[in-house]
This record gives sequence, C-alpha cells and structure tokens, in this order.
Amino acid sequence: MALKIQTRLFVDAALVAGEVLELSADQTHYLKSVMRLDPADRIALFNGRDGEFAARIERFARHAATVTIETQTRPQDAPCDLWLLFAPIKRARIDFLVEKATELGASALYPVMTRHTMVERVNLDRLLANAIEAAEQSERLSVPTIHAPQDLARLLASWDSSRQLMLCDESGTAPPAAAALASRARGPWAVLVGPEGGFAEDELDALRKLPFVCPVSLGPRVLRADTAAIAGLAVLQALLGDGSAARP
Ligand code: SAH
Repeated sequence: MALKIQTRLFVDAALVAGEVLELSADQTHYLKSVMRLDPADRIALFNGRDGEFAARIERFARHAATVTIETQTRPQDAPCDLWLLFAPIKRARIDFLVEKATELGASALYPVMTRHTMVERVNLDRLLANAIEAAEQSERLSVPTIHAPQDLARLLASWDSSRQLMLCDESGTAPPAAAALASRARGPWAVLVGPEGGFAEDELDALRKLPFVCPVSLGPRVLRADTAAIAGLAVLQALLGDGSAARP
C-alpha cells in the first residue's frame, strides 16, 4: 500500500504533473519547522479545482520551498452545496465556528447582520486562513468561500428559493430538527444561526413566512451561537447531506 501522505497544503496555482511550484513563506515555515520535513519528502497539494496531487520537496530556501508536482492522488469531487449564515460573534468563537463548519462540509460562509448582532467588524483574512487550515487537515479538496458581512434582510431579498434555509429557531415553537427535515428534499441548503442575543421576535416572524425557510429546534437547551451552527450543520448533513457517505 502506498505510504499515506500526512501533510496537505492548499495552493492557488494550477496543479499539473511535472510542473515545479514555489510555496509561500508561511507554508515553507510549516513544512520545515513545524512538520520537520526534508527535501525528497512528499506532501499533498489541492487547489479546489484539480483534485489532489502528490508533490516532492526539492529544496528549502530561507523563505520559499520548491516542490515538483507528481501524480494525481484524488480527482476533484463535487463539493457539498451547503451554506452557513451566522451572525458574527467574538474572535475565539468565530474562529472555532469557521474551523468546525469547514470540517462539516460547508461550502460558503455568510456573516449576516441581524438586529441584535453586537460584533460588526469581521477579519475576513483571518477567517479564510482558518478555513484553509481546516480544509487541509480534514482532507477536503476545496475551501469554503467566505463572504463579506451583509444585512440578513438584504441577502434574503435576493434569495434563490430553490435553496432551502434551515432556521435554527430558539423560541421553543419550532419542531425538532429530525422531524422538520424528514419531509424535506435533498438539494441546496443553508443553515441560519442568530447572534448571542438571539433573533428579535419580528425577525423570526418574517423569516417563518418565507417559503424556503424551515424552522427547527435543536433541543430544549439554549445553545451558544457557535454550538448551534455546528449542531445545525451536523444534523442537516446526517439527514439530507453527505453524512452517510464513506471516507474516500
Ligand atoms: N439569547 C437567546 C439565545 C440565542 S442563542 C435566548 O436566550 O433566547 C444564539 C442562536 O443559536 C439563536 O439565535 C439560534 O439561532 C441558535 N440556537 C440556540 N439554541 C437553540 C435551540 N435550542 N434550537 C434552535 N436554535 C438554537
């Protein structure tokens, strides 16, 4: 059996067998000083388009590593089509949320502003770095798209109604997620989680009237926003997503 390659890196460049690539200073530091790899060691590369390739480290310069792309180890898969809409939360929790949402297969992350959203500034570069790291370690072949923050109402005004929206509804009136999703179809989905202060009552009323919205309860306890996002994505993946698929 081929030796399993442990170190995976996301790159922007096209992946073509035989081509030589130069890695970034951060990636070089990671290979050299964190993973303690040497020239001739192999790593895996993916870019969200060309599948996964094995690559051989040729040499380390001070701030750059040169690698040669070898053979394709996995073809590009069709990623899940699963969005997460969440009200921005504080730094440690939003980092955690992005990491876990990436592991759970989210394809796009939308920070959305709601009435009780307290955090207004979002460091998109940091969120993307978290998403890339989580994609690398979870053996994904793509990195979720991170969108700039926007008003929830505006995003919903231009919503394509073929995408169903699972509303994580803390009011206690929504049916349990398993029951609510049982009659729903597979296809493109999104999960919506409110801010730590919760949704305003009239926001929930307006959301429930939208034809593509499926309100669900995640149980009798009040979950923090990051927990609710993870629970929501997990239950949706288990019932209507790729939760039953085997690892490649
Ligand atoms: N302050 C609010 C709770 C907000 S929790 C209150 O005390 O009522 C943050 C978000 O997590 C909520 O807006 C909701 O989207 C989600 N959430 C938390 N607990 C939930 C539950 N039991 N069921 C469904 N969604 C929940």
